[in-house]
Amino acid sequence: MVFGNLSDDSGTGVAFTRNPATGETGSYGDYLDRAQGEDVVAGIRNTMSLADMSKKEPVVHAELERLMKTLEDHYRDLCDIEFTVERGKLWILQTRVGKRTAEAAFRIATQLVDEGKISMDEALMRTSGDQLAQLMFPQFDLTANRNLIATGIAASPGAAVGEIVFNSKRAFDLAKTGRKVILVRRETSPDDLVGMVAAEGILTSRGGKTSHAAVVARGMGKTAVCGTESISVDEKLLQFSVGDLIVREGEVVSIDGTTGCVYLGELPVTQSPVTSYLEGSLLATAKDATPVVKAVDRILQHADEIRKLYVRANADTPEDAQRAKTLGAQGIGLCRTEHMFLGERRNYVERVVLAENEAEQNAVIAEMLPLQQADFVGILKAMSGYPVTVRLLDPPLHEFLPDLATLSAEMATAEALNSTITPRDKAIFAAVKRLHEANPMLGLRGVRLGILIPELFKMQVRALVLASLEVKKAGFEPKPELMIPLVATQRELLYLRETLEEEIKKTLNGAQLEMPIGTMIETPRAAITATRLADYADFFSFGTNDLTQLTWAFSRDDVESTFLPRYLDLELLPFNPFESLDQDGVGLLVKIARDQARAYRKDFKLGVCGEHGGDPRSIHFFHNLNLDYVSCSPFRVPVARLESGRAKVMKS
Ligand code: PEP
Ligand code: MG
Repeated sequence: MVFGNLSDDSGTGVAFTRNPATGETGSYGDYLDRAQGEDVVAGIRNTMSLADMSKKEPVVHAELERLMKTLEDHYRDLCDIEFTVERGKLWILQTRVGKRTAEAAFRIATQLVDEGKISMDEALMRTSGDQLAQLMFPQFDLTANRNLIATGIAASPGAAVGEIVFNSKRAFDLAKTGRKVILVRRETSPDDLVGMVAAEGILTSRGGKTSHAAVVARGMGKTAVCGTESISVDEKLLQFSVGDLIVREGEVVSIDGTTGCVYLGELPVTQSPVTSYLEGSLLATAKDATPVVKAVDRILQHADEIRKLYVRANADTPEDAQRAKTLGAQGIGLCRTEHMFLGERRNYVERVVLAENEAEQNAVIAEMLPLQQADFVGILKAMSGYPVTVRLLDPPLHEFLPDLATLSAEMATAEALNSTITPRDKAIFAAVKRLHEANPMLGLRGVRLGILIPELFKMQVRALVLASLEVKKAGFEPKPELMIPLVATQRELLYLRETLEEEIKKTLNGAQLEMPIGTMIETPRAAITATRLADYADFFSFGTNDLTQLTWAFSRDDVESTFLPRYLDLELLPFNPFESLDQDGVGLLVKIARDQARAYRKDFKLGVCGEHGGDPRSIHFFHNLNLDYVSCSPFRVPVARLESGRAKVMKS
């Protein structure tokens, strides 16, 4: 037993061999004279820094420094040391490897490499994708006064401040005049895309981590808080309420997509230099590059050198493709073409559905061709030299049409008021009723749509071939790949493949172009009968979002705002399976399909394009299964690069 409270030359303290907050070199800590251990943490008196202690107790301080070096040399890492001084004699009580912030983790790892204490592989293992993600997002200054009014699901990280608006058009109009807005919706739909692009952040009262708002926001790197059930959104009155508090359009809120917190009023935000570096606007070699930027650069470069998994991005605009490439993506693993027919272009699909005969339908589809072709040209140019996997239209047709409940109410009101109902209104209403499905996610989607309206898929294929030829002629190197979604049987795949191949041949008209045709593995049946699908697929891409939904019978649009939180609270589930792959269940299906595909052909190309492609735990699982690539939102690309490198070190 030693006592730090015996005399003036007694005391107690905590020391770190480097600064655990910033990663700066040099010892760092607190000392309190005439005190026992707990007093330092309890804050009974102000502590002195180790520098001040060195003036008061120079001999003891020198001895402490010497021992700190010994301990750090031994552990080859930042050490956190507790000590007591009793009548001028130093006693070390305990030491452990110290906890540190994300910034300190990167900086200390590279310092230790430079000091010859650890290898670059070890440095990589001392950091993580989650830490990198933390460094990438703007953050709120939480020392400022703040008024927390609600907490939702942290759906897309970051810190966003703006005046609230309740519809996309208003968001777009205000943003155009330079105002910062937060788009507040009960939940978003594809129609909200314009507003989501314009807004600083998105706040919804419904939906979870794979809801439309969450997926789209993450894809854009935009802050989102979803499923904030304590707020009640009134889109007509342009306000939301939380308990007794009413927040009206124009009032400012701050939303934290990393924690799910919603604050009333404006909180100060700090931008991230790491993101400037990753996006190419700050070079690691630049004079103003901070030490953490230099450290991240070195560690990411090392991860890139050693990793086996390729990292692609899920992107569907030329801008996103370009950004993804700057962030290090080695291609596009999923281009969701339905995103190209939303917003202003929605009426094309509406007209396809409403067409009275095949000729009329084909005429509309022909109008869609140049639009689709131009989209592909932009993406293929941005990704020149890298593969671009274009997924044919996937969602149920009703997603392009007005909502049935809203339309029914409007028709009933119009009838009651005797207002005119145009023949077009009637036709739309009839089509919406006809296409309404009780379980749209299990309905007319993906490959099924292609079989029912083949001209739609044929147009997309034509557009991709023509775009590739155009891009090639302009001196770029297009590498298009076609992907068929939601396949369950070999016959579906064969039927569609033959249709598409015929169209490709016709469009090529003798020109040369390689265009592999693959399928998504996103139904459990596809996974367990992969051998048969392998006959007609050049590659497989695991759509782990749908595979999770269909394996668990969890509706991805609903569970996160209904019973999943309860399951997580009760620990009936260790984590959200839409966020991190359920390796025992969904993972087993992936493994079965992998085994069958690789038994069919040793080098059968296998990728992942569900949200799990950007999740660290899942990336390790995919690496261990020897898959070829993961594809994730552009902003997760650096995280996936880092974690793929870590997975390689861990397995070897
Ligand atoms: C998936 O299901 O995993 C997938 C990538 O497709 P989507 O999310 O578009 O259904
Ligand atoms: Mg899917």
